[in-house]
Amino acid sequence: MNTEMIKCKTLKAKPTEVKSFGKLFTDYMYVREYDGGKWGKGKICPYDGFVLLPCSSVLHYGQAVFEGLKAYRDKESGTVRLFRARDNFKRMRSSCERLCIPPIDEEEAFSALVDLISVERDWIPTDAGTSLYIRPYVFANDESLGVHAAKNYKFAVILSPSGAYYAHGFAPVALKVEREYVRASKGGTGAYKVVGNYAASILAGEEAKSAGYDQVLWLDGTERKYVEEVGSMNIFFVIDGTVVTPELNGSILPGITRDSCIKLLKSMDIPVQERRISIDEVMDGAKSGALTEIFGTGTAAVISPVDRLGDVNGDYIIGKKGEAGKVSKLLFDTLTGIQTGRLEDPFGWVTIVK
Ligand SMILES: *Cc1c(COP(=O)(O)O)cnc(C)c1O
Repeated sequence: MNTEMIKCKTLKAKPTEVKSFGKLFTDYMYVREYDGGKWGKGKICPYDGFVLLPCSSVLHYGQAVFEGLKAYRDKESGTVRLFRARDNFKRMRSSCERLCIPPIDEEEAFSALVDLISVERDWIPTDAGTSLYIRPYVFANDESLGVHAAKNYKFAVILSPSGAYYAHGFAPVALKVEREYVRASKGGTGAYKVVGNYAASILAGEEAKSAGYDQVLWLDGTERKYVEEVGSMNIFFVIDGTVVTPELNGSILPGITRDSCIKLLKSMDIPVQERRISIDEVMDGAKSGALTEIFGTGTAAVISPVDRLGDVNGDYIIGKKGEAGKVSKLLFDTLTGIQTGRLEDPFGWVTIVK
């Protein structure tokens, strides 16, 4: 191990069963600070609070980015697997650049993560569907007010053992087409994992929940005509047997699960298109029955089937109510199979942590 480590005086008791998401944290985290024009040497240290002064710049101007990925541990062999972790750090670099945060070399971040996971491997749950959720993030921490690129930052990685997303089989969600608010527009920060995107989207999500939906389906910010994505997922449609997902256009987050699904579909000779898709085309497909499946993709759920789509003129049931479609199931089984080592990994997506 290359990373310096400050040991905990006592270790917490590890849970025998994990059911929650994002509530439980391991003994250690990784922290690296930027000061005096450079990133210092990071260290693995006890999971504990940061000192943030009331004037800390992140609290006022929101210069902060994050990532989300998972590690899996095999019940029998104990083998620990990371899925496409380098791609998360590549994306973190691009998010940093968009917010004028000095970027972190992705190989350095990756090897620090491998060290941290190796220290905390016994925290990774092994029951079916469980994982260790990994949250890397960077935030500005200047101790003064004033809008400008900060001179002090912290990069941290925290780890949260997480329960199975689908403990009782697939649970399809209902989406509401969002006609009032926009998530992102071209030239903005929609294509980057920045914290402000989420703050700006919460009201729409809350209103959708009050109206009986789970999440919103965002349209483009300019014409309000083309489908973009869901709150924290990319979106796919199966129309006349072809899988269609909005092309990356500068305001859509380039999801790693999205990219993995496209590559898997191509490798299975299932027709897949990245292109503009209008909400009218989606609604026409829902009316005619040509639209047979909708699913979201993201690290948390991997695949999230959608069985109801609501718009101003009412709701449509997509596929069979309460069930996942064929393509959704196939992608879920294949992707989770590769992530957990149940299936071979022909793409080189998996890193085994020693
Ligand atoms: C993180 C995120 C996604 C999904 O990305 P993955 O890399 O697949 O987890 C999709 N949309 C938004 C807005 C996101 O923040």
